This record gives sequence, structure tokens and C-alpha cells, in this order.
Amino acid sequence: MRLASGLPNLPFFRPLVSHDPQSTSVVHSASGRTFSYGNLIGDVILAQDKLEALGDRSLKGLNLQGKPVAFLAENSYDYVVTLLSILAADGIALPLSPSFPAAELRYILDNSQAEILLATEKYREKAEQVLDGELVKRPVLEYIPKLNDGAISPANVEFRDMENPQGGMMLYTSGTTNRPKGVFLPHSALAAQTKSLVQAWSYSPDDRLLHMLPLHHIHGTVNAILAPLLAGSSIEFTFPFNPTTVWDRLARPFMPNSNTIPPPKPINFLTAVPTIYHRLLGTFNTLPDITQKAAKEAILPENLRLNISGSAALPTPIKESWTKLSGGNVLLERYGMTEVGMALSCGMHFKDRVDGSVGWPLPSVEVRLFDLDSQEVIRPGEEYDANKRERVGEIQLRGPTIFKEYWKNERATEDSFMEGSDGKGRWFKTGDMAIRKQVSGAGQSGSNWAKGPLYFIQGRQSVDIIKVGGEKVSALEVERELLALPQALEAAVVGLPSDQWGQKVAAVLVLDPKHANTGTREGKPWGILDLRRALKEKLSEYKIPQEMRILENGIPRNAMGKVNKKVLKRDVFGESS
Ligand code: AMP
Repeated sequence: MRLASGLPNLPFFRPLVSHDPQSTSVVHSASGRTFSYGNLIGDVILAQDKLEALGDRSLKGLNLQGKPVAFLAENSYDYVVTLLSILAADGIALPLSPSFPAAELRYILDNSQAEILLATEKYREKAEQVLDGELVKRPVLEYIPKLNDGAISPANVEFRDMENPQGGMMLYTSGTTNRPKGVFLPHSALAAQTKSLVQAWSYSPDDRLLHMLPLHHIHGTVNAILAPLLAGSSIEFTFPFNPTTVWDRLARPFMPNSNTIPPPKPINFLTAVPTIYHRLLGTFNTLPDITQKAAKEAILPENLRLNISGSAALPTPIKESWTKLSGGNVLLERYGMTEVGMALSCGMHFKDRVDGSVGWPLPSVEVRLFDLDSQEVIRPGEEYDANKRERVGEIQLRGPTIFKEYWKNERATEDSFMEGSDGKGRWFKTGDMAIRKQVSGAGQSGSNWAKGPLYFIQGRQSVDIIKVGGEKVSALEVERELLALPQALEAAVVGLPSDQWGQKVAAVLVLDPKHANTGTREGKPWGILDLRRALKEKLSEYKIPQEMRILENGIPRNAMGKVNKKVLKRDVFGESS
């Protein structure tokens, strides 16, 4: 057992203690309740001590180092304290989604062999329900008290050296192909990911980030909690996402004669998934005029410093509508995944937010494209084949931001890496396909990473690369064109088996009722022939969908706005291949 209290001397905790202890770290948006960095550090130390005492008491002196500690907590200050205290105790923080059914949470507990399950009062029942079922190993259940007793002066924080840190964070993948896998991100990867983002996107103590995302994904945790905390920014939680609430909050500091005294600090940083921007745009016109006016001001480029989109491809119409509404603010698109954090990002200069592109390798991330057919690296200058067609390659990544392993799954870990020929380490095979090309006028950010050729995601190799008679079609490219049609509100493109071509392109659409009858042949509903005619000028013949289905109630998506195409194909076309 450790004798002295304090924090570990890890790259993440040192900067945390260097922030002004009076400055705001976390805000609960609905109540306006705020917590300072002084509170946060004090509470993390207390919670860490409690956690270690729990290890001693209930687990017979169990050392939590490198052991998964699962937790169920609402998006709140308590979540942040819990996450950081597990990291400080050198355990592996495993945030569970309260929205998952008990059976799925049980699977995660079994798979991770978590020693402890922490839950806030709000999820008491859920935790009990989870532990009520069959479990291979039953974790000790402990409730997280409401915290806010810790207030500590940075001068009183003792740092202790940690020789061989073994903890970090574990997130479960969405499991679109197999059962979810635990992705273990050690302290070193978390430190490298957050440092890279702070450098690239210039998080600062002046930033107030509005947090609207679930907290069992990399986007909500690393980009929207750990990186802002590293930089001393403040995080304001509003969850679950509600577009009207978000607009009201954005607008409030800009309302004339605001009753709130003093008005809250303006939000200057948003990071979200495309569906969130889509829903914000869709509700804007329902707001009272006065709110609309203030909200527009709130998202002007001079007030909203950064608006980031990622986790799924950003459709051009959403990007364009946002720019129009915000008086010229351009969404910054980036690409990442659970296993690697963020890997590619567009630049800070508006000209470096090139449509359809995810930009350049972020600081400390090494990226290469690997041609899966010829099994060779697509080196700079080799981006086109003999017929001048763009070569699509798998994105492979290397560097300190990459995860360590799939938890207790050596086989899957081995399979996901490829040895490099330069002796400088192995590459993680993302399964995502991209092309790389130079874009004239881009590269204006003046940074040392946002320059050179840019990456354009084509989709996942397993579902988005459709092979039609020997030609490769990117589902994402076709979706982009479909979404540019006034008739299409939502689109997902999949490949179906075809006797003639091997595979054929098929589209699943949700139509916009306002435009569903424009551009149709007389008296007929908008159909596949209209779609094909509309795309004739835009896409080569083989890329144009040969089949189409219309859904009435939206395309099913997960909490991060992602479509599970394997499930969609099965449900809509009855295809499982
Ligand atoms: P997850 O690990 O759940 O965050 O999912 C990661 C996956 O989301 C990646 O492997 C990509 O397939 C997809 N993804 C993330 N960002 C983007 C983006 N900007 N454009 C297209 N796909 C993306």
C-alpha cells in the first residue's frame, strides 16, 4: 500500500496541477454549477485514496495497478473525478455506457475481468441489475459519493514517481464485425494523444467546450475531456444531446437583456458527430426569432473558435449549411478510431478544411497507405496507377498514440499489426481505406503538420469498398453525391452480390418530404430511375446505384451517428454476405 497521498508523476497530471486552481474545470450546464481546477485536483486525490483503500479492504490488499476498474456515471463532474482517480491509482479506467442493456455490460465485465464496479447513485439500480445476472467474476460494487470537498492548493500536491506505470483507459469497440473488443490505451498513449491534439487544435485556458457526447467513446473522453483538461480549458456538460437546449445555451450570452446574471461564458469550442450538426441545423428554424439572432452570433467565427466534426464522414450539405448559418465558420473534419485516438485532421486555416478530406497526419502520428492488392506501400508520388486512376490504400498508423493491445486477445492484437521493413516498429492496420492527393491552395495553416498531400477517406475495407466488375467504388463517395441531391435527407450505400458484376451498388435513402416530388417523371414517386438520372453527370456509370430502398423513419445509427452497414444490408436487402 502507498503511504503518502498525492498524484503520480505522469505526463498528464503535472500540467493539470499547473493550471490556475481558481479557474473553472467543469460546469454542469443545466444548473450552472461549476467546479474549479483546485476542486478537481483535491477530489481526484481523495477519490484515488478511497479507491486504493477499497482495494486493500475488499480485495485483500489487491494492487489496482494495471487492473480494470469499470464505472457507470452520468456525464458530469463525478465522471471526470472517477476517470482521473482510476488513472492516478494506475488502474485501467473502463467507462461503461449506462444506455447499454445489462447483458452487454455483463459481457464487458466478464471480458475485462474488472475487479471493481463503481456507480453513481443515479445508476444504483442499473449496477445492481448488471450484477444480478450470471457473471464469471463478480466485481466489488462501490458507490461514488457526490464529491466537492476537495480544494487543494497546487503547492500542496506531492508528486510520487511511478516506475513502471501499468494503467490507462479501456474502451470497448462498437463490435460491428465481432463481439466488442477491449482496446487498452496505456498512460503513454493517452498522454501522446492529448498532447498531439492540444498542439494541433490549440486548446487553451480561455476555451469553454460544450460537451454533448457519450462518454464510453474516444471522441467524448480523449478529445472532449482529457485534452481540454491538459490545456486548462473548461468543459460544460449537456447530455443527452438536445438540439434546442444546445441552441439556447449557445445563444444565452448573446441575448439582449439576459436575465441570467451574470450570463454564462460563451461557448467557443464544439466537437461533435455529423448527426449532431445535422440536428442543430434542422431545429434552428423552430427557435424563437430572438434566440435565432443570438445563436447566429454565438456561432460566428469570431465567437465560436473551433467547430469540429468526426467519427463518421461529414456530408457536404451539412458543412455548407453550417458555414452559411454561421456567417462563414467552416467545420473542421478529422479522422480517428478507438485504437489510435485521432490520426488525421484538417488544419486551423479555413482553406485547410478541404471538402471531403480529413487532412493531414496529426503531430506524432506516422501514416502510410498500403495497397492491399499489390501488398505494397503507396509511397509519395505513387498515388496514381498506370491508367491515372487514384490508388486506394489502407490507412496504416504508427507512433506513440497507438493502443497497446486488445484486452486478453493476443490473436486479434497480432492480426491487427504489420511489421515495417525499416526496423522502426510495426504498423496498425486500421481497416479504413483512403486516397492521398495534393490540393492547390491548401496548407495555409503555417503549422508543421498541416501541409503536403491530404487524405480522403473512402470507407471501411470490409463494407464500403464495393467491387463492381473489377472497379472499386467508395460507398462514401456515392453517399456524398446522393446527399448533395435535394431529395435525399439521409443516405447509406452498400454492396450487394451481383452475378454479372461480382458486386453492385445499392442505396438506402430517406427522402426529404419537401423535395421528394421534384424532378420525378410525371405522376410517379421519386425512384431509382430519377436517382440514376440525377447522378449521371456526377458519377461514372458503374458507381451509380442499381438498386434503391427508401426508409420512412431514418437510417438506424448508434450513439455516435454511425450506421452498422452489415445490419442495414441484412435488414433492408436480406443480404448477409
Ligand atoms: P470508433 O473506433 O468507434 O471511433 O470508429 C472509428 C471509425 O469511424 C473509423 O475506423 C472510421 O471508419 C470511422 N471514422 C471516423 N472518423 C471518420 C471521418 N472523419 N470520416 C469517415 N469515417 C470516419
